[in-house]
Amino acid sequence: MGRVDQEIERVLEQKAENLSLWQEFQIHILNKKIFAGKFQKEGWSGEIAFYVFYCWDCGEITYDYPHGFIHKQYLICGKCEARIDFVPYWAPLAMLWELIRFKLGV
Ligand SMILES: [Zn+2]
Repeated sequence: MGRVDQEIERVLEQKAENLSLWQEFQIHILNKKIFAGKFQKEGWSGEIAFYVFYCWDCGEITYDYPHGFIHKQYLICGKCEARIDFVPYWAPLAMLWELIRFKLGV
């Protein structure tokens, strides 16, 4: 892991450890994922949004960026590697838009 990646890990680690009471509430009670900022890891072509979240499998607060296609996105727990579904609420709209574009041939 390079220097840039280490710096990103450090920032995210700090965010996960210093949650406000409101963020703790959102993560634990509402099962929300907290947006932690956009970062570009070494070798990536652009920035990707990272999220801090609670893993129900191991009971730890961890962070990750979304993997997979938009309609079946997931996060991976950094502690136990459990997969956690993370399909954005606008995923059906994005898919509908793709369908319209396909039908219109644009
Ligand atoms: Zn876990």
